Amino acid sequence: MARLPIIAGNWKMYKTRGEAAELAKTLVSAAGAVSNVEVVLCPTYTSLETVAQAIGGSRIKLGAQNCHFEEQGAFTGEISVPMLKEIGCAYVIIGHSERRQYYAETDENINKKALALYKHGLTPIICVGETLAQRQANKTAEVVTAQLRGCLSGLPADKAAASVIAYEPVWAIGTGVVATKEQAQEAHAIIRALVAEMFSKDVADKIRIQYGGSVKPDNVSELMAEPDIDGALVGGASLKADSFTAIVKF
Ligand code: PEP
Repeated sequence: MARLPIIAGNWKMYKTRGEAAELAKTLVSAAGAVSNVEVVLCPTYTSLETVAQAIGGSRIKLGAQNCHFEEQGAFTGEISVPMLKEIGCAYVIIGHSERRQYYAETDENINKKALALYKHGLTPIICVGETLAQRQANKTAEVVTAQLRGCLSGLPADKAAASVIAYEPVWAIGTGVVATKEQAQEAHAIIRALVAEMFSKDVADKIRIQYGGSVKPDNVSELMAEPDIDGALVGGASLKADSFTAIVKF
C-alpha cells in the first residue's frame, strides 16, 4: 500500500532563533510546496514559534524534539504537549537515542509520552535502535522488539497506525557510518512484522517507518527505494538548506 514518505529534520541543539528563521525561510522557498513527501522541521524549543511563523502557509510541518507526558506541574525545565500544540507542533520526536543515553529515557516514559501526544492530537515520531555492541552480539531484533513493545504498549490500533517509527541504529547517528540498505530494510521489516503481530496487518501496512543515521543526499535514494523504508529522520544534513532540500527531493 502507498504510504506518504515523511522526512524530518532534527536540528538538535543547533541554531539560534535568527539562524533557525533563515534556514526555515530558505527551506520554504526550496521545498515548501513539495507534496509527494511530508516534510517536518524539529528545531529547539526556543525556535519553535519563529519556525512556525516562517513555514506558515507552506506544506512544511512543525515538530518538537521532546515533551513531558504530564499536562502541567512542578517539572522544572520541561515542556508539555498542550504547550507544543499551542505553538503549532504536529509531531514530536520521542525516545531519541541521545535522550535515552544522556537523560535516562525509558521505554515506559516514551510510552507515556506517546499516549499524551495522542490525547492532544499530535503524532509521535518514536525512535528505536540498537548500539554497535548490541548489533555485534546479534541482538538487533531483540533490542528493537523490546523497545517497540514498550513504547507502543496500550496504544489503540488507529493511533498506532498513524504513528511514525524511526529506526535509528545508534552506531549510525552522527558518525557518518550509514546502515547499508540491506541492514536498514532488514530492521524495518522486523519492525513492520512486529507491528502486525501487536496490532494487525492493516496497522502494519499503514504505519510509516523512517530510517535515521547519517542520511545524506548521496545515500537517501537507495535507502528510500527499499520496500519498508518510508522516510528519513535527518540530523546533521538537515542543518543546511541545500543538503536537506536534496534529501527531501530524493
Ligand atoms: C538523528 O539525530 O536523529 C540523526 C539521524 O543524526 P545524523 O543524521 O546526524 O546521523
